[in-house]
Amino acid sequence: MTPDDLFARVAARLTELAPEMVELQRELVRRVAVGPDAGGPGEGEKADFLAGLMARWGLEVHHFPAPDPRVPGGVRPNLVAFLPGREARRVWVLSHLDVVPPGDLSLWDSDPFTLRVEGDRLYGRGTEDNHHGIVTSLMAVRALLEVGATPARTVALALVADEETSSGKGLDFLLREHGELFSPEDLIIVPDAGSPDGTMIEVAEKSLLWLKLTLSGKQCHASRPELGHNTLRAAAHAIVALEALRREFPGENPLFRPPGSTFEPTKMEANVPNVNTIPGRDVFYLDCRVLPEYDLEAVKARVAELAWEAAAPFGVTVTLEAVQEQPAAPLTDPGAPVVTALSRAIRAVYGREAVPQGIGGGTVAAFFRRRGLPAAVWMTVSDTAHQPNEFCRLSTLVGDAQVLAHVFLFGD
Ligand SMILES: [Zn+2]
Repeated sequence: MTPDDLFARVAARLTELAPEMVELQRELVRRVAVGPDAGGPGEGEKADFLAGLMARWGLEVHHFPAPDPRVPGGVRPNLVAFLPGREARRVWVLSHLDVVPPGDLSLWDSDPFTLRVEGDRLYGRGTEDNHHGIVTSLMAVRALLEVGATPARTVALALVADEETSSGKGLDFLLREHGELFSPEDLIIVPDAGSPDGTMIEVAEKSLLWLKLTLSGKQCHASRPELGHNTLRAAAHAIVALEALRREFPGENPLFRPPGSTFEPTKMEANVPNVNTIPGRDVFYLDCRVLPEYDLEAVKARVAELAWEAAAPFGVTVTLEAVQEQPAAPLTDPGAPVVTALSRAIRAVYGREAVPQGIGGGTVAAFFRRRGLPAAVWMTVSDTAHQPNEFCRLSTLVGDAQVLAHVFLFGD
């Protein structure tokens, strides 16, 4: 049988496995894996279920628990399952077990933790982020096993904890404590972001900077403004002044979407509870996604100056604090083998040309890239991650599983 015939059999088997994909989603959705930072029990139950499932399929499952006294059992689970290939070099698919909380339940049309199937759509918290990655990678392996096909490289499925907060008990832990698992020779795929047509392969990220600006003035009665220093008015002027950042850091890089740096005022903390008091303290936040060529220290300095100058005429002072600061990781070469292998697989399954791109949002791939491991982030998204009525498409689960199976079978 030619390799193409073998892939056709695997792809056909994956189409037949669609009902099993729905059932797997159902089992995953009902095992609530909200992390302890968000008040949840962690990923233990979901990890136990998946470890059992993969072991029954005949995969070799290794456990790399990260201690965390906040969850039942005292550890956050990290699993790696291997399917031996013709060569020892590995192809990784890394998915995460944890989910974000459902948020306002009144915005959901059904229980977030009970799978609801409507046509091609599978609704439930985690269906897209990141059960999509779990289901597609596991089912690709299962199809290979059922057809009796040996992968080119050894397939390694990593299912990690703690992606939605810091990855400190997940991938970051794995790389720190068990770095020997990974080699720069490996192909590393992270199905945790992408585009709706499945053509975006994410290879680079902007630097991330979250700034907290605290304005201090003087509270007073709203009928006597001359007695106070109104921090809300000063904040409004500061926010307008900060529009200058876009002009002062004007660079554009066509690899990125959007191509320029972004500086968005986002969260505003509550100030006074009543209408007739002028606030003497206000706090707002700026979410900055900065092209890698800019130094974050320079951005911080300009934010401080612009806000200070805007607030000063109102007798208001400003202090600046970075609450998150992540300089961009080195990018994955758009010509890296993992990008080539994925591009070929996407062409074979979807008939589309993939495009390596950079994005503004951070992904766990940055942890790999900082260690010189060229990771590519890819999946076909429905763009509902973290939203109410999160869903994924069954047709996409089948298609993306076929893409991963293609990479497993052909390697690079
Ligand atoms: Zn995710």
